[in-house]
Amino acid sequence: MKLDYHMHFEYGDYDFDWVQGFFDAAAKRGLAEIGVSEHSHTFPEFQQLYYDDLILDDSEVGAFQKIWLKSNKFKHTLKDYFDFMNALRKNHAVKIGIEVCNFQNQSAVKKILDAWDFDYVIGSVHFLWGWGYDASKVKAEWERHDLREIYEQYTLEVEKLAASGNYDILGHPFNIRLFKHFPDFDVSAYLERVAAAMKKANLAVDVNTGTRYRYPVAEISPYAEFMKVAAAYDLPIIISSDAHQPEDCGNFCDEAISYVKSFGYDKVLRFSHRQREFIELG
Ligand SMILES: [Zn+2]
Ligand SMILES: [Zn+2]
Repeated sequence: MKLDYHMHFEYGDYDFDWVQGFFDAAAKRGLAEIGVSEHSHTFPEFQQLYYDDLILDDSEVGAFQKIWLKSNKFKHTLKDYFDFMNALRKNHAVKIGIEVCNFQNQSAVKKILDAWDFDYVIGSVHFLWGWGYDASKVKAEWERHDLREIYEQYTLEVEKLAASGNYDILGHPFNIRLFKHFPDFDVSAYLERVAAAMKKANLAVDVNTGTRYRYPVAEISPYAEFMKVAAAYDLPIIISSDAHQPEDCGNFCDEAISYVKSFGYDKVLRFSHRQREFIELG
């Protein structure tokens, strides 16, 4: 069975015509079920957490992020989302997920999440020291940091996120490779720490093809070195496309299946109401 649990409707709207394209692409690629994982920045319930955490000063990053927070953000309440998804469920096999950024105040996140019946919750490290490192417009910021510090901070953020107990899945692990900043030092201690934190928190690995087709690195996240560690720790996985456009739903799914099989995986997780079951892959 093929599933895709990581995609976003945000480039369109909660509109049946727009989202039909995701279901059409899923059918074309033979997916049995999809899950939508809207970003936390879709919802006003999370707005204050962004203003608390992000760099919003007059620096290049701050100036960019001030505009970013006002562009296509916080436009639907969680109630709007659940109403729309429940209407979609009448005709489609679709799960209700969410992708939450790595906020510092995890008890505030818990309060928001606990009020809703999500099928699964993805936690993703999108910010390091309040800087959205995946934004190509502030890519210059990468030159202001030592790559070792970035690995250290990324790992600390995963450890915090995992320790909160708020999540089922870690989104696109080690996508800090997305702009091809490759380490020339030994990263094995970071890989081990992330895997150990995930194991303790019962977090699944989001094997995400978004970095395969949307970023310069052009590889599936997590990369092979972490996949080996994940397999050694027996971490469960999901496979996802991180589609932002309808036609990308299930994109590179078959390549991802071969990829995970090469590390010994033959099952993925399926979620309902935050309960998990293993299903055969393929
Ligand atoms: Zn993400
Ligand atoms: Zn995403």
